[in-house]
Amino acid sequence: MRLANVGGRAHLVSGDRIVDIERVSGGRFPADPMAVFPCWAELSTWAAHVDVDGAEVLDPTGLAAPVPHPRQVFAVASNYRDRPVVVEGSGPLPVTFTKFPSSLAGPYAKLPLPTATVDWEVELVVVIGRPTHAVPEDLAWDFVAGVTIGQDYSERTLQLGGPTPQFSLAKSFANFGPTGPVLVTTDELADRDGLDLRCTVNGATVQEANTRQMILPVPALVSRLSAVCTLLPGDLVFTGTPGGLGMSMRPPRYLRVGDEVRSHITGIGELCNVCVPAGPPEP
Ligand code: ZN
Repeated sequence: MRLANVGGRAHLVSGDRIVDIERVSGGRFPADPMAVFPCWAELSTWAAHVDVDGAEVLDPTGLAAPVPHPRQVFAVASNYRDRPVVVEGSGPLPVTFTKFPSSLAGPYAKLPLPTATVDWEVELVVVIGRPTHAVPEDLAWDFVAGVTIGQDYSERTLQLGGPTPQFSLAKSFANFGPTGPVLVTTDELADRDGLDLRCTVNGATVQEANTRQMILPVPALVSRLSAVCTLLPGDLVFTGTPGGLGMSMRPPRYLRVGDEVRSHITGIGELCNVCVPAGPPEP
């Protein structure tokens, strides 16, 4: 099942078609993308039999974040073997921070640049499907509703310029957390534990990796996070980014107005964000 958020309403995506779930189900399922998780299994069964002939054509640029209002957003640093800043085995979890929910945006959102040191981080994002507390690794995927793509845009001066790193605020400027284009259940993926991810800037590949290179794969992350916090339906877990960051280049290469960042994961789709000047605050 592939779900999208169009105009604040949950839609089923099939090929290039979209179906309004609440309308087409005659009110059996809710319109609110945050309210679908309790009926996930029934929704999946229903979705497998929906007739999409004649349905509306999908306009990717009209998509909003598939999970627009998560109660908790977890993000982990240094979870790929090519940038083992945290040495494997050094603790139960990589450094964990949040992207404040106001930073979330749709897959085609413009990216306002507040400074000249904004960097990219393509990531697999896990969406929690049901209350999850102290789940063992071998059951962890059962608590996941699906996966999507996320960009963990990061303002490196605020993040790294002080006496201690300042992760959460530095990664929470407006539109610093685009996600989408759709929420995909893992039965749609050829190999949920081995997904190719890639980030390009103006067409040039800057990040390219596979989720098999994670130090803590998805089941280990969900298990260990749930040992501390109860994870709630709709919560997001940004699972870390591989090497190829702008701050690691010599000289560093940060985002500039007009740059186009595309973030791709096989089987899920693509985000596309064009960098724009940070305007005056909205009234
Ligand atoms: Zn990140």
